[in-house]
This record gives sequence, structure tokens and C-alpha cells, in this order.
Amino acid sequence: MNADPLELQKFSELAHRWWDPTSEFRPLHEINPLRLEWINARAPLAGKNVIDIGCGGGILSESMARKGATVTGIDLGEKALKVADLHSLESGVAVRYKLIAAEEMAAQEPGQYDVVTCMEMLEHVPDPAAIVRACAALVKPGGQVFFSTLNRNPKSYLFAVIGAEYILRMLPKGTHDYEKFITPSELSQYIRSAGLEVAGFKGMGYNPLTKIYSLNDDTSVNYLVAARRPL
Ligand code: SAH
Repeated sequence: MNADPLELQKFSELAHRWWDPTSEFRPLHEINPLRLEWINARAPLAGKNVIDIGCGGGILSESMARKGATVTGIDLGEKALKVADLHSLESGVAVRYKLIAAEEMAAQEPGQYDVVTCMEMLEHVPDPAAIVRACAALVKPGGQVFFSTLNRNPKSYLFAVIGAEYILRMLPKGTHDYEKFITPSELSQYIRSAGLEVAGFKGMGYNPLTKIYSLNDDTSVNYLVAARRPL
């Protein structure tokens, strides 16, 4: 299976804190409104059938459901999915969560989704290109796929690993493995090989002084990519 047991374990150990906005998941809580609005501007979510790959505790999944989408969230972390389910019950925002691999879901429900999201997940899997192919299989012709991940270069090593894990201690040490970071050109190639078209890039920046995240055009560390499946 295209999953790293150590990666799944890392997230599993923290899973109970998923919805604590002051926990290790704080960065995901803080970037969520930015990525949600970016997705919603490109693919208005109300009424859409959406699947969120590597959904974890459901921060993005639930927020997309709040925008009026019918959302399925999948992950291979059992604990995270339990937390996601409980949170959805508590908040009253319905999301269908499933413990299943992206490739398997693509075989079961090909071409069923208007929008596919896969955020902060590709840098944790052994074969990211296979996940991109699964996303391409899940989306309808004319539908959109959104990815986010970490670029690989000396600056991203300094900011995303040394800065975030060792200096600012925003993330536990070992959260990110530099070798698995993916450059925009590598991700573009996976996207095109999967039969999708690249529609746009966006950078995401963090100002450690103001502690504020923002979207910009600097894709050198965190970045998002929009892709489209041709009709
Ligand atoms: N996408 C969510 C969570 C990101 S954390 C968000 O951005 O808010 C990374 C998630 O990827 C974790 O929930 C982890 O369990 C999941 N993950 C790691 N490897 C995976 C794999 N091979 N298949 C599915 N999910 C995986």
C-alpha cells in the first residue's frame, strides 16, 4: 500500500488534539480560512460533490461542508477519522468519513466528484504521483483538483524544518521529512502525467513576527496548486 506506517503513526499520536486550535495542528487551523476561500473562489463549493484526500481530523472537510458542499473525507489514520466523525456530530455539519486509500476510492468511485482536495498530504506518502493519479480518476471531466504541499530547496528546509520545528517550535520535531518535499515542477509533472491541466499556483507565507499567514505569489516554501480535468 502507498502509505508510510511511521507517518500514519505520527498523526495518530496527536489525533485527539486535532480540533484544539492551540495544539500541534494550529498551523492547519490558521491556514484553513485562506485555502478555503482560495478554493471557493475558483470552484464555488455550494452544491458541489467534494472529496478531501488525507482529511485528517476534518478541518478542511468540515469547512467545505459549511459552504454547502456534500463532502467525503478519506484518510488512513483511524484515530483522526474517529475524531473527525465526533466533531461533525458535535458541530452538526455532516461529512462522510471513510478509512480507505485514495487509489482504492478512485477504483470504487471514479469520476464522481466536482472537486477533489488533497492538502498537506503528498509530502507524507511514499508515492505522491500515485495519489495525484487517484485524484485525477476521482474528479469529473471539467472538475477541479487542489493540492498543497512543501517545496524542496534550501529556503524551505530552513523555514519549514529548522524554523517551524526547531526555532519557533510550531510543529513537533520530525513532522516533515525534507527529502519528501515536492517542487512545483515535479508536482506539475505528476499532474500532467495524470491527464490533468495545471490551472494556477499560489504561495503561502508566514510572518513569524505578526504570526500571520497569507497567500501570495511566493511558492518557495508552502504552496497550493489548482488543476483541472479537461472536459
Ligand atoms: N489534509 C488535512 C490534514 C493534513 S495532515 C489538512 O490539511 O487539514 C496529513 C494527513 O495525511 C494525516 O491525516 C495523515 O493521516 C494523512 N496521511 C498520511 N499518509 C496517508 C496515506 N498514505 N493515505 C491517506 N492519508 C494519509
